[in-house]
Amino acid sequence: MSTLPVTDLSRLCIHTITTKPWGIEEAAKKYAAGGVKGITVWRDALSGRNIKQTGEMLRQQGLEVVSLCRGGFFPNKEPDKRQAALDDNRRAIEEAFELGTGLIVLVCGADPTQSLEDSRKQIRDGIATILPEAKDAGVKLAIEPLHPMYADTRSAINTIAQANDMTEAFNSPWVGVAVDVYHLWWDPNLEKEIKRCGNNNSLLAFHICDWKSPTLDFLNDRGLMGEGCIPIRKIRSWVEAAGFKGFIEVEIFSTEYWKQDQSVFLKNIITAYKEYA
Ligand code: ZN
Repeated sequence: MSTLPVTDLSRLCIHTITTKPWGIEEAAKKYAAGGVKGITVWRDALSGRNIKQTGEMLRQQGLEVVSLCRGGFFPNKEPDKRQAALDDNRRAIEEAFELGTGLIVLVCGADPTQSLEDSRKQIRDGIATILPEAKDAGVKLAIEPLHPMYADTRSAINTIAQANDMTEAFNSPWVGVAVDVYHLWWDPNLEKEIKRCGNNNSLLAFHICDWKSPTLDFLNDRGLMGEGCIPIRKIRSWVEAAGFKGFIEVEIFSTEYWKQDQSVFLKNIITAYKEYA
């Protein structure tokens, strides 16, 4: 049982993927009614919609659009596929602009048919290519380091130190880091590297959920806060000590929870947030 005071909802953001069965219109209505203040939008949730109007609808519900998820997936051995990825990132920048958010989260990508070093170089080149366009659109790019279990295909950036190295190399206010407790909780250098983010003024996003033991699926079995072994409040205290004042974003990919009544799930998210975030 947590003995700490409950966390109020003023900084609660939910990623639309968390309640995947809901369309974005229903999610917005239900989040707002539950007292949620921010929303992060999965690009798939915009499919078939007028993006500008969708952004207006979200703001009418009182929701701040915290970020668009996701850009990235830069590496590929084939040059034409790298080009396709750049084009897709350019579309993501346009979508973020239309939606009215100033942040894109980058899942940087990896290609298992080449070395991680090659993938990292292509990530660097990819970000460098789209950076001027992101800046023109007023959209920041957050490099999200992913747990090393995803190093084969999802991201060659697997520690916050790597994300900080890359951010420092760009030395641009338009590139920073997304800290997701699911990917980073195990890292013995986490506190130190979060501090480094703070010193660079580059901590752009903070994502929470929990790590279930056992985890039955490495992609879609994330836990509700308090259900696993991640010291969420401790990590949050580091993030805040580093000067982060943004939204605390619940991002739960879970086949199990997507099967539940999403209204019940949303209630459970809010209860868990108050107690464990
Ligand atoms: Zn995340």
